[in-house]
Amino acid sequence: MDAGAAAPQRSIDFWGAIRRGWSKTCPHCGRGSIFIKWNKPHRNCPACGYLFERDYGDVWWVWIISDRIPIAIGIVVVYFGFRVTSWKVGVPFFTALVLPLVLTIPRRFGLAIALAYLSRRRWPDSNDPMPPLPV
Ligand SMILES: [Zn+2]
Repeated sequence: MDAGAAAPQRSIDFWGAIRRGWSKTCPHCGRGSIFIKWNKPHRNCPACGYLFERDYGDVWWVWIISDRIPIAIGIVVVYFGFRVTSWKVGVPFFTALVLPLVLTIPRRFGLAIALAYLSRRRWPDSNDPMPPLPV
C-alpha cells in the first residue's frame, strides 16, 4: 500500500472519528476492526494500514481520565451521605462502580485511538504518513 503525507485526504469530521473509535473500528477508514481480541489492538488497520498507536503510551491520558469518572461518581455519592453499612449494600455499590469501568475498556481504548488519530490529523508529521482513504 502506497502511503504518504502528500496523499489527497478527504476531511473526516470530529464526531465521525469519535463514533468510529467508540464502535471499535478504524477512525481513519471506518472499515477495519481495531481489535484482534477483546482488548488487544492490531498494530495497523487490517483494511487501510493506518498505524493505530504511533508510540505506545499515546492513549494513556484518555485511560487515566476515563478511569476516574466512575470513581468520581462514587466519591460524590459518598459525599452526599451514602454509606456502605453491610455487604448487601457494598457489593452492589462497588459492582456499579467497577462493572462499567471493565465493560467499556475496549470502547474507551477505541475512543483514545480516535482522539490520537484526530490529533495526528490536526498536526501532521512528515514522519507519520497517513494511508490514503479507500474510495
Ligand atoms: Zn482503517
